[in-house]
Amino acid sequence: MIYDCVIIGGGLAGLTCGIKCAKEGLHTVIISGGMNSLHFSSGSIDLAGYTEKGAIVKKPFEYIKDLIKSNKEHPYTKIGLSSIKKSIDFFIDELASDNIPLNNNGEYNHFRVTPLGAVKPTYLSQESVYSSKGKEIIKSKGKIAILNFKGFRDYYAEQTAANIKNHPIFQDIEITVGSISLPYYHKTEKNLHEFRSIDISRIFETEKYLPRIAEEIKRAAGDAVAISLPAFIGIKNYKSIRQKLEAMTGKFIYEIPTLPPSILGLRIDHALKDRFFSYGGEYIAGEKIVSGKINKNEVESISTLNEGRLSEIKSKYYVLATGSFFSGGLQSRLEGISETIFDLATNGTNPRNKWYSKNFFDKKSHPFLNFGVVTDKNLNAKTKEGKAIKNLLCAGAIIGGYNPIKEGCGGGVAIASAYKCAELIAKDLKK
Ligand SMILES: Cc1cc2nc3c(=O)[nH]c(=O)nc-3n(C[C@H](O)[C@H](O)[C@H](O)COP(=O)(O)OP(=O)(O)OC[C@H]3O[C@@H](n4cnc5c(N)ncnc54)[C@H](O)[C@@H]3O)c2cc1C
Repeated sequence: MIYDCVIIGGGLAGLTCGIKCAKEGLHTVIISGGMNSLHFSSGSIDLAGYTEKGAIVKKPFEYIKDLIKSNKEHPYTKIGLSSIKKSIDFFIDELASDNIPLNNNGEYNHFRVTPLGAVKPTYLSQESVYSSKGKEIIKSKGKIAILNFKGFRDYYAEQTAANIKNHPIFQDIEITVGSISLPYYHKTEKNLHEFRSIDISRIFETEKYLPRIAEEIKRAAGDAVAISLPAFIGIKNYKSIRQKLEAMTGKFIYEIPTLPPSILGLRIDHALKDRFFSYGGEYIAGEKIVSGKINKNEVESISTLNEGRLSEIKSKYYVLATGSFFSGGLQSRLEGISETIFDLATNGTNPRNKWYSKNFFDKKSHPFLNFGVVTDKNLNAKTKEGKAIKNLLCAGAIIGGYNPIKEGCGGGVAIASAYKCAELIAKDLKK
């Protein structure tokens, strides 16, 4: 069988590309070797957070418009402003269809709080992280109670409170810290390793203990108008659980991501998979692509390893969405940086001792975060000989030429490049 499009990697980029391809009517499969970075992320989509000099970007689309004029190699330049905007609208619509509404602040960025209490600019967030009501509460300096659950060790309310108090938007706001007890906790006491965000979110999903939790919240929060909880109030039906808790407590409920696994990210992962399946996409989980054959600048086939034997998969188009070092799309070896399936050209060429900065929190960040596969203007991957591969496009963190952390643009580049790849493939195959 020959697919229209095989997507290698089922992260934010692979899934977004898969949804768009399948929605366009292409016979699409996603093959993914393991977990993706969404399980470790904030669940917010960073579009453009910081300038080259480290200043906070207020209006991301305006900033990207200027970036496109000045940086020819940036993935945003290759994608173009119109496709970037379309991709964000597309993403919002698809997640809304799976009951995960994403909010933005119009043309402006808003702020999200990290698991350790840092405050970062971002563009799209779930409504428990950014909403007009939350914005009003901050503006009116309403009292906030930061709560944790007794026995939960992947989140530190005291540290969050201490850190956010340093941020200008939280100054002059009274912030208290408290803890509440989850009734179910007593049953997990014998095995504390099971008291993780994913276990607790499953308990929330049952909705059985909501009235008791609401009473605990009221007791611990006192007269605070808003409370923040570690983000685990459900995966699939978090929206209605949050509404019920707000009604029961009479308080605004905000969520802060915990240390991994991140439930805010998991919600997006689940919703994207649902959308992909709804358009008839195929998903092969736990299967790694180990090699690919390239002939005359075209991919002929890719292979998985089955009981020691190579098993070939063929497609008209391939999208490489294997992520960066974190997910195994790139590898650092003694001899240099390599792309792990096709051994494509990468921009990770400078001497090994220049890959990183000596100071971990260096303002200039680390050069290796900029490394990735070299692409042409249409996101086609390039071979080490400098030739563009006609039917192999790149999406997401595997693309070189940008720094997702320093620029605060990881989610935006993943979604926009994935959408662009799908647009180009659909246009060509429908000719
Ligand atoms: C820990 C972490 C946290 C982040 N947090 C945020 C955030 O909060 N907001 C934000 O905007 N950006 C964040 N980013 C930036 C991030 O790069 C992007 O947001 C985006 O999630 C990257 O998606 P991706 O699909 O390109 O890659 P990934 O999510 O890394 O997915 C790649 C997938 O490819 C699979 N794969 C790899 N090799 C193979 C193979 N050979 N065969 C088959 N499958 C393979 C992997 O198993 C994985 O599932 C974060 C990045 C990291 C690493």
